[in-house]
Amino acid sequence: MDSSSLLTVLNELYSQYKSLQEGTVANYIPELAKVNPELFSICIVTVDGQIYKVGDYEHFFTIQSISKVFAYGLALEDHGRDYILTRVGVEPTGDAFNAIILDEQSKRPYNPMVNAGAIATTSLIKGSDPTERLNRMLEMFKRYIGRDMLVDISIFTSERSTGHRNRAMAHLMLNFGMIDRNIEEALDLYFQQCAVMVNCQDLAVMAATLANRGMNPITKVQAVDKPHIKDILSVMYTCGMYNFAGEWAYKIGIPAKSGICGGIIAVVPNKMGIGVFSPPLDARGNSVRGVKVCEELSQRLGLHLFDCLGQEAKFGIGD
Ligand code: GLN
Repeated sequence: MDSSSLLTVLNELYSQYKSLQEGTVANYIPELAKVNPELFSICIVTVDGQIYKVGDYEHFFTIQSISKVFAYGLALEDHGRDYILTRVGVEPTGDAFNAIILDEQSKRPYNPMVNAGAIATTSLIKGSDPTERLNRMLEMFKRYIGRDMLVDISIFTSERSTGHRNRAMAHLMLNFGMIDRNIEEALDLYFQQCAVMVNCQDLAVMAATLANRGMNPITKVQAVDKPHIKDILSVMYTCGMYNFAGEWAYKIGIPAKSGICGGIIAVVPNKMGIGVFSPPLDARGNSVRGVKVCEELSQRLGLHLFDCLGQEAKFGIGD
């Protein structure tokens, strides 16, 4: 497929789904409920640095759960895979992203893509004090995105003052020795990571960085050590879309991660990163338009990882 046809596909999907009015914006974090539900953007960045974008791709929003992917990468770099596996599992839960559950036997949270697992992961980020840990986190995001990162303070404080469910998970993990650090400090860093500001193009660049073996295709900066990419993409594939992960893997077939901001990233290894932003969510917390767009992109471009016919026949960019 040539570049102009890919842009045509994005424009078609944009017009097709712009009028779709299903879903509701997340409102359990009061500040998040203020978002305009009409915002909609789709962006693709290829591993050779081409950018295709449509809609409100410059609008900033907070990254929310999509951050979990990148915090997991930093924790893997800080401690290595074996240690991280003793603290956070890699099993899909089949439960909601905010379920208050741990693995009965190991007492680990099930995986790093749901809240409990992400709080545990973030509590492992190295640094001598909260400021150093936050700075390391922001530096990590900067490597993926290519500019200085900011935290949306009103969203951060809104979640910090209402996030008692996450606080309950953190206490449960403290009880079982799965978090060693001061709980409020660990939660602050988790809430700050969720409140990092990005736009849809940033999402696609981050996804493309993962697709490009950890190297940002625009800045050429190595954002994460190569050996961790397969672990990151594996948990995205099996757990990134929460209790929709199985159906997503079956129908769409590429590693992905969503957030209650209404963003989705999807990674086509060695080809491209996809970012979609549209705030109204379905009952599982995934963007309604985002899921539809990714489903159709996967079909039209033959992106499903196990669709050998699709890949041979339809998709040539980056080959
Ligand atoms: N900050 C949100 C929370 O912890 C992130 C959840 C999400 O995006 N699924 O509840």
